[in-house]
Amino acid sequence: MPPSTAAPPPADDRDPLRAALLAWYARHQRPLPWRLDPSPWRVWVSEIMCQQTRVASVIGYFERFMARFPDPEALAAVDLETLYPFWAGLGYYARARNLHAAARQVVTEYGGEIPSDPEQFGALKGVGRYTRGAVMSIAFGHRVPVVDGNVVRVLCRWFNVADDPKTPGVQRWLWATAGALADGPQPGDLNQALMELGATVCTPRSPSCLVCPLASACQGRRAGDPERLPTKTPRKGPRAVARSVALSRTAEGHIWLVRNPDAGLLGGQWALPGAEGEGPAPLAALGLTVADGPPLGQVTHTFTHQRWALTVYAATGRPQVEGAAEIAAHPEAALDGLALGGPTLKALRKVGVAVAARRGAGRT
Ligand code: SF4
Repeated sequence: MPPSTAAPPPADDRDPLRAALLAWYARHQRPLPWRLDPSPWRVWVSEIMCQQTRVASVIGYFERFMARFPDPEALAAVDLETLYPFWAGLGYYARARNLHAAARQVVTEYGGEIPSDPEQFGALKGVGRYTRGAVMSIAFGHRVPVVDGNVVRVLCRWFNVADDPKTPGVQRWLWATAGALADGPQPGDLNQALMELGATVCTPRSPSCLVCPLASACQGRRAGDPERLPTKTPRKGPRAVARSVALSRTAEGHIWLVRNPDAGLLGGQWALPGAEGEGPAPLAALGLTVADGPPLGQVTHTFTHQRWALTVYAATGRPQVEGAAEIAAHPEAALDGLALGGPTLKALRKVGVAVAARRGAGRT
């Protein structure tokens, strides 16, 4: 059914389906630490950590973070350099910076109390529609929806919506439908039930329809092959970018790194000094002397719009990088505590420098 005519479930049908979802969630939810104690701060932090990162990978980070920053005040009191080691491995450091800025707003504007008003909470730094819906419904019981990748998959299959969910019309329909479902008792549990169903039952490649509480109502299942949904429109491929980067050490063996400015790609993260282009020439322009011989290695890293091919050269000298937030040489043993960008993590590992790998992305 196209989204223009796929109306949210009518009230008569909604309640039995809500009840089925809630009953299923009560029995089958995973006992995650933020569910056992769903205070606003714990829910907020867990929701930020779980964006782009697998739930199973988040648990250890969450426990360590909460032990060190048990409330917004504790986070607001430190600088970013103190926060980063607790985020290292989760990646997507913009999330950490926004959470830090928002914690400071909570302290200065609300005396350390996370606002329970959706408008006020939604105005905090880095709080988008999804985070607002999750925290307001789970921690405060507001009847506001969430729509994440799991919810998109469940709703598109449930109502057999074959149009691309990224299009504005389907987006509007998704939020309206999720809103209709959340508009009842236990909105936080209902939202979590939809997300949990998508993560554990209505999975991308092999939905377990036989154990699904929505099976009798699911139009996608009835139409056959629900795994064909949601529809993905092929994107234009990312632009190929060649970059040269340098592994340059001090006499003590410390590695020169450059911290990117906060705004932009890999903002605030540490990187091997480098520049766009092929061969040693881009590194000479940074004041580095590239050693004779072949490069140390090559890695690739794909962003949404760019695919980097990184060639790593051995070099000497202190890099001079215009616009860098910071340039410093770090001992190898200290690298795991730094916010290292994904391409640099890969490059260091490729050339034999021991750094912890980042955990897998994608919330499940
Ligand atoms: S019946 Fe199958 S396709 Fe439909 S929501 Fe449940 S798991 Fe997904």
